Amino acid sequence: MANDERGAVMRRVMAMRVLTMGLSVQAMAGCGGDAPREAGKAATAASADSAAARPADAADSATAAASRLPRGPYTPDSMGRVPVFEYHVIRAGPTEFHHPPEALRRDLQVLYDAGYRPVTVAEMHDRRIDQVLPAGYRAFAAVFDDADPTQFSYVESADGTLSIDPNSAVGIWTEFTRTHPGWRNAATFCVLSAGDAGGAFFGRGGIKGQKTEWRYPKMKFLAQQGFEICNHTVWHARLDKYSDAYVQEQIARLQMAVDSAVPGYRVRTLALPLGIWPKTRPLAWAGSWRDPRTGQTVRYAHDAVLEVSGGPSVSPRDPAYDGHSIDRVIAHRDVVERTVRRLEPDGAYVSAGAGR
Ligand SMILES: [Zn+2]
Repeated sequence: MANDERGAVMRRVMAMRVLTMGLSVQAMAGCGGDAPREAGKAATAASADSAAARPADAADSATAAASRLPRGPYTPDSMGRVPVFEYHVIRAGPTEFHHPPEALRRDLQVLYDAGYRPVTVAEMHDRRIDQVLPAGYRAFAAVFDDADPTQFSYVESADGTLSIDPNSAVGIWTEFTRTHPGWRNAATFCVLSAGDAGGAFFGRGGIKGQKTEWRYPKMKFLAQQGFEICNHTVWHARLDKYSDAYVQEQIARLQMAVDSAVPGYRVRTLALPLGIWPKTRPLAWAGSWRDPRTGQTVRYAHDAVLEVSGGPSVSPRDPAYDGHSIDRVIAHRDVVERTVRRLEPDGAYVSAGAGR
């Protein structure tokens, strides 16, 4: 893409961001001023503010935002479980990897009503739940695998203005944040840069209506809004089938691609494609690859590695917790609702707040 074209895309995306933030300011002015709603808006504003900030600042502002929110109804429990829900294609379909937009909306509402608030996998792994969630709320994480276009789509108007498709996962999530006090733009996106069916930073070549030049603006938007970007390899290779050298190339090249889209972004988490380990297991969390074109060696180091299944994760404070093998729950049909029920009345991690 030519530079001027890229500039035009970026300008349109920036205009869209301003529009989104303008809307939330308007909503704030319109609400009756009761404390929880105001506090929720403050958290939303803080997470948007942290967009351009360095990671340390972003972490501080997430803590500050949480400390301004009112307490939740549950008794703090740092040994409770943290369900890590896993999503793939946000569209109706026959498999457990399909989940339509209205089902995702329902999941978020079920979680919200049961006192759950989202954290990223990195926040969970870093034992920062108490810092980023106010005391008395339950923690969960949502992970979107495969960078499918249905997770993050743009709609282009006749004059070329881009807006986020309200039925894509990012559209649903950011709208939920805007309208639900205390919710956050915290979810983890485990991306491919060159997968099938448009699974390449959320679309390419017109697949599902998504243009190739929208890939980088989407990746930047995620990072700026506080979402986590996670490695899922370049094209979803079954890591048990390849040599150690090729496994490291698949992982390192995805990290390089993320760095091209969001310069300096540090990838902390890897989701194993199909949950299958490489023959040499430690290569999932650390390795290196020498780029033959530049002669440069790219190193990666993941603190968290995600399995495909296994049930709600044990608490990151539980001695049984292993960041290199974090269990997940595939969120299809009514699994989120059933998981929430299963963790009643006191099976879930409950934040103690930043004062612990
Ligand atoms: Zn996958």
